[in-house]
Amino acid sequence: MKILVLNSGSSSLKYEVFDLENLNVLARGIVEKIGEEGSFLRYRVNLAQRVIEETKNLVIPDHDIALKNVLNVLLDGKHGVIRDKSEVVAIGHRVVHGGETFHSTAIIDGKVIDTIRENINLAPLHNPPNLKGIEVARRIFTEALQVAVFDTAFHHSIPRKAFIYAIPLEMYQKHKIRRYGFHGTSHAYVAEKTSEYMGKPLEDLSLITVHLGNGASMAAVKNGKCVDTSMGMTPLEGLVMGTRSGDIDPALPFYMAGQLGMSYDAIENLLNRECGLRGLCGTNDMRAVVKMSKGGNEKAKLALDIYCYRIKKYIGAYTAILGGVDAIVFTAGIGENSPDVRSLSCSDLGYLGIEIDEEKNISSSGEIREISTAASRVKILVVPTNEELKIAIETKKAYARISGNR
Ligand code: ADP
Repeated sequence: MKILVLNSGSSSLKYEVFDLENLNVLARGIVEKIGEEGSFLRYRVNLAQRVIEETKNLVIPDHDIALKNVLNVLLDGKHGVIRDKSEVVAIGHRVVHGGETFHSTAIIDGKVIDTIRENINLAPLHNPPNLKGIEVARRIFTEALQVAVFDTAFHHSIPRKAFIYAIPLEMYQKHKIRRYGFHGTSHAYVAEKTSEYMGKPLEDLSLITVHLGNGASMAAVKNGKCVDTSMGMTPLEGLVMGTRSGDIDPALPFYMAGQLGMSYDAIENLLNRECGLRGLCGTNDMRAVVKMSKGGNEKAKLALDIYCYRIKKYIGAYTAILGGVDAIVFTAGIGENSPDVRSLSCSDLGYLGIEIDEEKNISSSGEIREISTAASRVKILVVPTNEELKIAIETKKAYARISGNR
């Protein structure tokens, strides 16, 4: 029996197939450029003796055809991983916004779909393609249990003082304007892995998790529950990101409109796609930023400084609200792979008991590892994230819960 994990974007469909028993990955892939010129399916199959990687150029006008092509590859007589689609007993869908309704994984039925639809105004870019993925999966895998895992769910425990903005209260009460936070699946996963690594129950730990991918966010996790996070109503708030500004003076858009004559759309596009590292030094690829900075490029150096200064500021803030920290956990593309970012973000924090060991910091491995000095009161860890695995774990739990009743 297998679990299929789907992450459906506006023009892409990412998938991963897990063995239900041991959660080993059997296959993974991505369909890209759905509905565009040049669409393709790239996949990787892990067979007992070898790994097969291939790319197929296909005409893929919509998500329905995308998933049908994925199914064909999974069923392929030569190197498929299933013989019949009924082997896929459960499908876990990544859904970005669960609004205030979903505090945990949900088994999908008509009512859940309606609620995700009602939350579209909260995530107009993400929830519609996520829903599309659910709809096509329900049509194609009619027998499988369908499960939604929400990016926002882990943050539901954040207290009101941390999630309500200081704007008229009815903005929250009537319009649900509040902090929701994102990357929850990743923050939850690395927090659990940290607890395993440290040999202490999550309920006894205070952690700061730092997810630095193209999007970036931090979370303060106390006794296993998230108590604050840096992204807000939307993923624009908080840290400096690849192309997003993160925190700015909220009056800047009025200045841009009033004084610079920019339109609403131009401002939204600027803040989401032309800011962050790209706005500061021309690229959103941290590898390039670090390389340019080391080569003496002043803009890249400034971008790196601003990026890490913001992380350090949040480390200070979260240390204060947690009342002390047991571990700071770096994860995702930049967090796992950039010693320069980790070093700058944690520099000169000895007075908080945070001391990075530069030698350990530069050593790399795909494994969970400790990069703080022996004397550091706070452990600094690098913990590889795995959002697909976390979705598979959640889906397996949901399947186990209900399979007795089916
Ligand atoms: P996404 O949010 O798209 O899942 P990832 O978690 O894959 O993003 O992270 C992408 C980021 O990771 C990019 O900015 C990339 O430059 C950065 N990255 C990957 N490898 C390295 C590395 N060795 N050094 C610095 N940055 C890296």
